[in-house]
Amino acid sequence: MKILILGSGLLGVTAAYELGKRGFDVTVIERKDACAADTSFANGGQLSYSHAEPWASAAVLSKLPKWLLRSDSPLVFRPRADPDMIRWGLSFLRNCTSFRADTNTVSILRLGLYSRKCMHKLMDEEKIDFDFSNKGILHIYSTQAELEHGKRQVEFQGKFGGDEKILTRDAVFELEPALTHSRQAIIGGIHAHHDESGNAHSFCLQLAEIASKKYGVKFEYGVSVTGIKKEGAQITCVITNKGEMKADGYVMALGSYSPVYLKKIGINVPIYPMKGYSITINANEFCPDLSLTDGTHKIVYSHLGDKLRVAGTAEFAGYDHSINEKRITPIVNAARTLLPKADWSQEISKWACLRPSTPDGPPIIGRTPYKNLFLNTGHGTLGWTQAAGSSTLLADIMENKTPEILLHGLTLGRYKKV
Ligand SMILES: Cc1cc2nc3c(=O)[nH]c(=O)nc-3n(C[C@H](O)[C@H](O)[C@H](O)COP(=O)(O)OP(=O)(O)OC[C@H]3O[C@@H](n4cnc5c(N)ncnc54)[C@H](O)[C@@H]3O)c2cc1C
Repeated sequence: MKILILGSGLLGVTAAYELGKRGFDVTVIERKDACAADTSFANGGQLSYSHAEPWASAAVLSKLPKWLLRSDSPLVFRPRADPDMIRWGLSFLRNCTSFRADTNTVSILRLGLYSRKCMHKLMDEEKIDFDFSNKGILHIYSTQAELEHGKRQVEFQGKFGGDEKILTRDAVFELEPALTHSRQAIIGGIHAHHDESGNAHSFCLQLAEIASKKYGVKFEYGVSVTGIKKEGAQITCVITNKGEMKADGYVMALGSYSPVYLKKIGINVPIYPMKGYSITINANEFCPDLSLTDGTHKIVYSHLGDKLRVAGTAEFAGYDHSINEKRITPIVNAARTLLPKADWSQEISKWACLRPSTPDGPPIIGRTPYKNLFLNTGHGTLGWTQAAGSSTLLADIMENKTPEILLHGLTLGRYKKV
């Protein structure tokens, strides 16, 4: 059976590997000249399986008025006459109740814990060198209110399989001595000790090579999707700059661009680009060994080989990939305050990209109204964390196998109108 996967980011590559391994004849098409060259290129590196609280929550809602007035806040909204942005924003606000946030947390956590299992299976089967670390992720807090919120989240997630440790300030410094130099107040922390980190870009490059060598997956670069043709409830072909491409089944994994092409065939997925930024520097002995999440600034840190990656910011600015220095500055300032002894004299490598974000948080995996079109998209801030699990679920659905976990809250069906 021939499968055409659209897009070779984390979700396209992991799907290609999983489907290739199961005997499908897989081709991946990608507009760039390599895989993982877009949003999956220089992300925060965190495999944060336990980080299940969606952006849309009562806690974020209470901070919105303050954030929207500040240019250096973690969330920046550039208002524009864009009906998709307005629809997405309203849906985001509707999801900011405690009930909705808890419901979405349960779905995200279920997928996260399953992804960890799938990722470990994959790592056992394939030798991939991607600066992997299994020392956990340390969440640090600067205010009592934020720490209390974090503790409540740990307790809630504990009922659904989550397992994190609450730490005193001294325990935080003991676990990560690099933080003792911090000029930012740290009053306590949470150690997500089952969480991990690694370089998503290296991982994708090697997994794509394994998929093609071991399972005959073909990667065709420089191929841009321009449209999709349908007949009744079937997709008949994908239109590209290189002509029409036919298969028996199609997987939509175009990240933030998925809604652009789905809309043309009448499927309205609520995915909007949420721009994020990262900086990368050469690490020195004063950089943290553990991957960190600074809950106050919504910034993450990962030590990837000899580099330190720092990532954050959610900017709503449409399909604009440009690097806005005004957004980089708060990340650099926060990192310099937290890690004053890191080497800040060097040239900083900067990057910006668009997270394919749903308003409620979980991604969209599986079936569509078209019998031979499947989705593996909308992973927002957690595409690296959820890639292995999402692609295993996708392959199960395509093979008509019962998935190992409940799909509730993870499919297109959760939105009333599609
Ligand atoms: C700053 C930042 C930090 C992040 N940190 C983390 C983190 O620490 N942990 C985590 O789990 N997640 C993180 N994420 C999220 C994660 O990186 C994304 O969820 C993930 O990369 C999305 O993968 P994807 O395959 O859906 O999209 P992409 O990687 O964007 O892949 C889609 C592919 O489709 C291609 N494409 C688009 N349009 C076309 C077309 N018309 N024709 C052909 N090809 C096309 C693109 O070139 C691209 O290669 C972060 C994201 C950002 C921006």
